[in-house]
Amino acid sequence: MQPLVDRYGRVATDLRVSLTDRCNLRCSYCMPAEGLDWMPTAEQLTDDEVVRLIGVAIQRLGVREVRFTGGEPLVRRGLVDIVRRTRELDPEVELSITSNGIGLARTAGALAEAGLNRVNVSLDTVRPDTFGEITRRDRLDDVVAGLAAAEAAGLGPIKVNAVLLRGINDDQAPELLRWCLERDYQLRFIEQMPLDAQHGWSREGMVTADEIFAHLEQEFALTPASEPRGSAPAELFLVDGGPATVGVIASVTRPFCGDCDRVRLTADGQVRNCLFAREESDLRSALRAGASDADLAGRWLTAMAGKAAGHGIDDPTFLQPDRPMSAIGG
Ligand code: SAM
Ligand code: SF4
Repeated sequence: MQPLVDRYGRVATDLRVSLTDRCNLRCSYCMPAEGLDWMPTAEQLTDDEVVRLIGVAIQRLGVREVRFTGGEPLVRRGLVDIVRRTRELDPEVELSITSNGIGLARTAGALAEAGLNRVNVSLDTVRPDTFGEITRRDRLDDVVAGLAAAEAAGLGPIKVNAVLLRGINDDQAPELLRWCLERDYQLRFIEQMPLDAQHGWSREGMVTADEIFAHLEQEFALTPASEPRGSAPAELFLVDGGPATVGVIASVTRPFCGDCDRVRLTADGQVRNCLFAREESDLRSALRAGASDADLAGRWLTAMAGKAAGHGIDDPTFLQPDRPMSAIGG
């Protein structure tokens, strides 16, 4: 076993696996209304190939947590089978998905039975009109039903991810928190990052962590939670003295790159050592050319060693990666 260590001594143990770049929503901070040129199926890893690479990560490189994402992972037909086979590789590894929740009402039970531990569901508003404005689809009821089904299937603690957009849902932060508290879901706000396909992000336009606190503190008292944050991206705050918490993932204004323990595998088999990396390492070609597991592990270690110290969003030379978030895996 050789850990995925980089030149700054950080060790990646948390693997994010994108299973598809496709999605059934069109969140305005993620992709344009017309969608994107989806990845051709032949370029996408097959179920067998994904499971093999996850096996290399778990069995040779010390990965202890696998999160399936996308695009929308629930639109990947083989998802339940991929989860089951990943669980068979290791009974202890933590398995989760990040999903928009559409279709979860139908599959939560099968996912839990296959060995999934938890879900993160993205939900930016509980108002149908705002949901339609942000996602360009009328599917709020499906997401709410998906969350309830995940809870019933034992896929908790349920985490809800929300992005606030100025003038659209930023004034709804307390309402969303109240809704989540009532259901015992753990809400985390994520600062909007320059990863949208249409390159529409601007520093002035994004809602900062400080603004998120200001909105929440109009209705709630927030105090820092005492538990250490470790490599978790979310800073946790007790709500009205606790025990309930709310998280803020301030990737832009309070970067946590020094504690990062993540590595990413795209749906077409490229290793990315950072969301913002401008280089990738092509494991799919190596795998299809007959590389052994040891060879694949060696390539993965090399890809990881070159991880940058930080994302550099504030550098004048910062360039947004060519791949949007939906094709990297958030
Ligand atoms: N479709 C799934 C979902 O929405 O949860 C998984 C993929 S999505 C790319 C993963 C997470 O990234 C979601 O919580 C979404 O809100 C977030 N996200 C997408 N674009 C973002 C951006 N530009 N800045 C910050 N978060 C973003
Ligand atoms: Fe789809 Fe997730 Fe992007 Fe929204 S954030 S468009 S649900 S991939």
